[in-house]
Amino acid sequence: MTAPILPGSTIGVLGSGQLGRMFAIAARRMGYRVHTFSPETDTPTGQVADVEIQAAYEDLDAVREFTRHVDVVTFEFENIPVTTVDTVAEHVLVRPSGGVLHTSQHRLREKTFLARNGFPVTAFRSVSSLEDLQASVHDLGLPAVLKTAGFGYDGKGQSKITSLSAGEAALQALEAQEAILEAFVDFEREVSVVAARGLDGVFAHYGVIENAHCHHILDVSIAPAAVSPKIAEEAVTIALSILEALDVVGVLCVEFFLTRDGKLLVNELAPRPHNSGHLSVDSCVTSQFEQQLRAVCGLPLGSTAQYRPAAMANLLGELWQHGEPHWPAACAFPEVKLHLYGKLVPRPGRKMGHLTALAASAEAAATLVGAARKALQHDAP
Ligand code: AMP
Repeated sequence: MTAPILPGSTIGVLGSGQLGRMFAIAARRMGYRVHTFSPETDTPTGQVADVEIQAAYEDLDAVREFTRHVDVVTFEFENIPVTTVDTVAEHVLVRPSGGVLHTSQHRLREKTFLARNGFPVTAFRSVSSLEDLQASVHDLGLPAVLKTAGFGYDGKGQSKITSLSAGEAALQALEAQEAILEAFVDFEREVSVVAARGLDGVFAHYGVIENAHCHHILDVSIAPAAVSPKIAEEAVTIALSILEALDVVGVLCVEFFLTRDGKLLVNELAPRPHNSGHLSVDSCVTSQFEQQLRAVCGLPLGSTAQYRPAAMANLLGELWQHGEPHWPAACAFPEVKLHLYGKLVPRPGRKMGHLTALAASAEAAATLVGAARKALQHDAP
């Protein structure tokens, strides 16, 4: 087996957002150095990394130079061009591999991979013209959800359509070469499994996490999810099979819909730590970020045991609309932890930070984290 990449080595991170920041914090805590590469400066990752490189992902000379100073490269953002990852891979190890990124950064490729390998997904069609759209609406019925095939996240580039004419308008508005039409899932709840796979093929997971979205953006996650042991086992088995089928070395999150008749459908894959796994930082023996570090360095994975039930609430830019949130009010809750990502401009919908609460049950943690988030708000003047 390949020798592990040991503390003191340097990890390269493609992307520079909050996922890279929390990864870099975990890596530095374990004695690694971190270099981040993205088109921006003073980024959430760059603020805690040893070196922040600002260059376009398409600047392959800069990419090659970046690889000269790192021992392994991972990514924190899946919309990295495949040519960038291929260039990195010519010079240094990339984990997970570019193939995992290639499959999961494009919704059509991802759903096709899942369906071909027998994983349960909602019915979908490829749409690249108005004729395709008409035929797809005919096949799948309405309502349906139209999404860009590539480069979409947090509900960006997607809309629920309830008529063919609305679908035509939505397709034109997407200005995308390729789109995907999905049958609308009238789900009971949304859940996710954050899982890791080591270089030796060992699998670890954080159980089932339950997620509530607001305007297509994750709002609150709780763990453990209130699902039956049978559903939990099924979700974890599906996640294990997906990580094996993709030969993942790293962390990958599987997002699911749980339908009203008790079926799990895979909605999306994220080949990296995930927003729903942020609660692992405060509530588990090994956070999802440390787990990613261990996996990409070829170290044994850590325990995912949860100390206490937890809930996480995102802090979006809206919270700043009447001024700086009232941080001491959230810190007045002794079992609530504040995480901020160092972003300077609080735009609506932008993930600026999160709160995690620990309690005797996941429901109690959700109530607590909701109260702490509410306490942050200033009343409108
Ligand atoms: P996505 O960007 O695909 O993860 O979608 C973001 C959110 O939109 C999901 O978490 C769901 O709440 C909702 N959504 C996406 N696709 C569907 C679908 N086919 N049916 C119902 N809701 C959906």
